[in-house]
Amino acid sequence: MKIGVLALQGDFAEHMVALRRIKVETAEVRLPRHLADLDGLIIPGGESTTIGKLAVAYDLMEPLRHFAAEKAIWGTCAGAIFLSKDARRSQPLLEVMDITVERNAFGRQVDSFEIDLEVPAFAKANLDRDVYHAIFIRAPLIESVFGTSSVISALPDGRIVAARQGRLLATSFHPELTADDRFHRFFAWMAKS
Ligand code: GLN
Repeated sequence: MKIGVLALQGDFAEHMVALRRIKVETAEVRLPRHLADLDGLIIPGGESTTIGKLAVAYDLMEPLRHFAAEKAIWGTCAGAIFLSKDARRSQPLLEVMDITVERNAFGRQVDSFEIDLEVPAFAKANLDRDVYHAIFIRAPLIESVFGTSSVISALPDGRIVAARQGRLLATSFHPELTADDRFHRFFAWMAKS
């Protein structure tokens, strides 16, 4: 099992630390050839516009779309935006996941927040189902899931913050910034199955 982390911009280093903590081999991905021997890929948080522009500049858009058709990809925050079909703005998107997102839905940097979430799907991967403490930083909202995407977690008021479509996973929040490894374990389980 080897899970790469797209290392163009954003907090890719924190994801690599989390993967090493759960004993998953990892590597930085900057060029199409770096995708060759991976079972999965994490697209980190950061600035989705910047990540998109750099992915275009490094000829990564088509290789990433091919990868999404065969392997597992998890986008956190900006990464979730980059996976979406629509972010209602003109910016490069992979458009591989049947979700629409609203960028910065919760306001500015000062409106970042933390909240406990229910994630029933953890049970499928034999992970305990205690509430998950999630960190939101200028987070996007997953406005809608359609097609074959489904909701993995929502806020108490019903707004969607995590979705899954086959081996694609999108979270509005930042599991790499906590010591709780369950989302990394869940993604490794998705990449394996
Ligand atoms: N606000 C950023 C964007 O729209 C995402 C923030 C993040 O990844 N923490 O791309």
